[in-house]
Amino acid sequence: MIAIENLQKSFGKQKVLKGINLEFKRPGITAILGPNGSGKTTLIKSILGMALPDKGCIRFQGEDISGSWAYRRQIDYLPQIARFPENLAVKELLRMIQDLRGGQPDAERLIGLFALQPYLDSRLAALSGGTRQKVNIVLAMMYDSPVLILDEPTSGLDPVAMLHLKELLRQEKEKGKHILITTHIMSFVEEMADEVVFLLEGRIHFQGGLQELKEKYDATSLERAIARILREGELGFSSNGHGEKAAKLVLKAL
Ligand code: ADP
Repeated sequence: MIAIENLQKSFGKQKVLKGINLEFKRPGITAILGPNGSGKTTLIKSILGMALPDKGCIRFQGEDISGSWAYRRQIDYLPQIARFPENLAVKELLRMIQDLRGGQPDAERLIGLFALQPYLDSRLAALSGGTRQKVNIVLAMMYDSPVLILDEPTSGLDPVAMLHLKELLRQEKEKGKHILITTHIMSFVEEMADEVVFLLEGRIHFQGGLQELKEKYDATSLERAIARILREGELGFSSNGHGEKAAKLVLKAL
């Protein structure tokens, strides 16, 4: 579905993606993990054509995406930070996005699922962070595209909303969609992900199933496996005991 070859991207002198090779072949949920600043959002934006690679190639259904826009209609996207005019009411925002995108969105079901009816007339400025995130999820998921990219969908969600999000993702997965997710919630990854991609300092350190990851790093949990990737990674930690401590600190920042 999506194939990435030798993707390189710098911002000024900072090399953010240093030759990424990845393929998302099978439908299901892929968690893209890595510490803050490791390049997850830049990778996602490159797939969406929002960040232009310096080198390398991204193919969507076999076609090189450079200079092409049509493929994006097949991707639904939840940005990490969605910015809309604050004085719009929720229902006005929904209508605006529907007018822009056209098609046949199914917002009603999602508004019901996240219990957003009481907020439809509220201005965005008046919403709590969690309610705002629920609105963003509705906007991203009200269409039925074959690829869904969610950058930090769990941020600010209360436990009930989190349950609904998981339920929704399971339904979307059942439809055979490709779902790419970044999150800092490891329990969410353990429960939901079919595959994990671990990015560290602009390079892929692992792509595969959760079980495979745990076996490879001889770890009983995802957190332990990640601590081991970080320890053997490029952070320059020594193996004299400081490594474990430093890895824990980075894990907290994940
Ligand atoms: P992550 O999503 O893993 O936290 P990002 O892809 O957002 O990482 O960022 C990786 C690095 O690239 C960070 O150091 C960030 O400051 C830098 N970066 C991202 N976008 C830009 C930009 N538009 N201009 C300059 N630097 C950027």
